[in-house]
Amino acid sequence: MKEILLCKYGELTLKGLNRGFFEKLLERELKKRLRLAGNFSITHAQSTVYVEPLDDDADIEEAFRLCRKVFGITAVARAAEAEKEIEAIKQTARVYLPPYLRGKTTFRADARRSDKRFPITSPQIAAEVGGAVLSVMPGLKVDLSRPDITVMTEIRESKAYLHAGSFPGAGGMPTGSGGKALLLLSGGIDSPVAGYMIAKRGVIVDAVHFESYPYTSEQARDKVIELAREVAEYCGRIRVHIISLTKLQETLRVSCDEEYFTLLLRRSMMRLAERTAVLCRAQALITGESLAQVASQTMQALCVTDSVVSCPIFRPCIGMDKEEIVAVARRIGTFDTSILPYEDCCTVFTPRHPKTRPELSKVAEQETRFDWQALEEEAFASLYTIDADAYGETGAGSSL
Ligand code: ATP
Ligand code: MG
Repeated sequence: MKEILLCKYGELTLKGLNRGFFEKLLERELKKRLRLAGNFSITHAQSTVYVEPLDDDADIEEAFRLCRKVFGITAVARAAEAEKEIEAIKQTARVYLPPYLRGKTTFRADARRSDKRFPITSPQIAAEVGGAVLSVMPGLKVDLSRPDITVMTEIRESKAYLHAGSFPGAGGMPTGSGGKALLLLSGGIDSPVAGYMIAKRGVIVDAVHFESYPYTSEQARDKVIELAREVAEYCGRIRVHIISLTKLQETLRVSCDEEYFTLLLRRSMMRLAERTAVLCRAQALITGESLAQVASQTMQALCVTDSVVSCPIFRPCIGMDKEEIVAVARRIGTFDTSILPYEDCCTVFTPRHPKTRPELSKVAEQETRFDWQALEEEAFASLYTIDADAYGETGAGSSL
């Protein structure tokens, strides 16, 4: 018996005339992603992408896991295909559904007939399939209002499909439908969550990571690449641009008042991020900042850092409590990597009493004490790129 995946898309169906564009992106992403699970055909009809194995080596279990992580898909069902003929449908129900029903006490059978030419009505199909299930599992009881499980028969254009319910997908919009943005990615908990949230809306995300070797280690960088790879499981690929801030930080430390270190560093990071965004054609920056979380995330501090760039800055975590951000990190699978104990360049030379209500004029005065333009130029020249992807190609160095 042939088992296939039915991937449903949600919001996409609202897109009217642009719908074809969204469907193409989704299909393209699924094709690239599913190569890791073997040979599949990917087609769409009636707000559903059909994923069908083309040979015995195609791993449907792995394909199911992968499809649930692709943005744009709201639910995935594993389903058995049957000919559009009631006896064939019942026979498939008797063979295919029992493993899903084992251990359950009650069930309900539903049917949907999008092909209205099919000669039997939906309630009749449901009754026939329910009867077929009971014939092989007589201990089960029918419960129409609160069943343990619902089995579904869908009569579609060319075939009928039977399944025992769908599982939630990643939701959101297909990658590539919403432009490109550059994520400032640290090794912390918040920035991978911020990147995930924007990527979910269809945005291609590149990342920039600032390191300060030897104050930060190679393990710290590897951890950031791993975080990018974990987020890429949803959006396909994240290219991580790495910039060294060692000299800039060493100069800051000896030139400026300690209480301004972090703010000055963050202004340089923002300027360098904007330059990187121009280079990789990203239209906005993304950070994991959350209002009042630390000294550099007060409203005044955010204004001081924002004032050095002109592109929009998306901060999807801005109104979230730490626990809320942690909950998302756990759900998407980045939390365990984020809490590995490696240092970040923001925690190198941290001031004991950072300014929480900085005045722009005073910050600007501090900035006259060192040649930040030359230091940023040198830092930008250190940029190199590592790909983190969900296509099995991670790690290949590449140019912009
Ligand atoms: P995270 O927010 O990722 O948990 P954090 O809470 O330690 O890290 P901060 O150090 O306050 O965050 O930094 C705030 C934001 O600045 C981060 O969310 C991230 O977007 C950016 N950022 C911090 N450090 C770096 C870095 N080394 N490289 C790139 N971006 C960084
Ligand atoms: Mg943070």
